[in-house]
Amino acid sequence: MMKFCPRCGEPKLTTASQKSFECGACGFTLYMNTAAAVGAIIECEGCVLATVRAGSPDVGMLDLPGGFVDHGETGEQALRRELDEELGLKGFIPVYFGTYPNVYPYKSVTYHTLDLVFAVRLDEQPTITPSDDVAGVEWIKKSEVELRDFAFASVRAALSDYIRTG
Ligand SMILES: [Zn+2]
Repeated sequence: MMKFCPRCGEPKLTTASQKSFECGACGFTLYMNTAAAVGAIIECEGCVLATVRAGSPDVGMLDLPGGFVDHGETGEQALRRELDEELGLKGFIPVYFGTYPNVYPYKSVTYHTLDLVFAVRLDEQPTITPSDDVAGVEWIKKSEVELRDFAFASVRAALSDYIRTG
């Protein structure tokens, strides 16, 4: 819960709507709009690639590679940047798959995101160099994906749709 106004500093913020706070001292409105994020379902030889989370929240759980979209970026640019940063993966062709809402608790603030999920099909297993917020990767047979091992509702829903639709 936000309390102090980021404009005037008074502890007068009150909840105004599902996604906004208003300051009773200066009238400022603080919006907590839905943030855009990207994720990739990378498939190769009947397996999908899962990353192991290196950081909070849900450290150690499985995830899809991806992250938040920076200001001015397209979803495709964000995906290329994140997959390069996290996996050292370049030169792939992302195909739009779908969008999935998510809730992302971070440092005691709950962020709402919309995850833009892309599918990436590779003919052969790439060399992966995990870094950034990725501790490692696992290639999991599509028939053996356990959704409960994945950290986020958006990722579980996207993987479920992807596996179900073949
Ligand atoms: Zn204020």
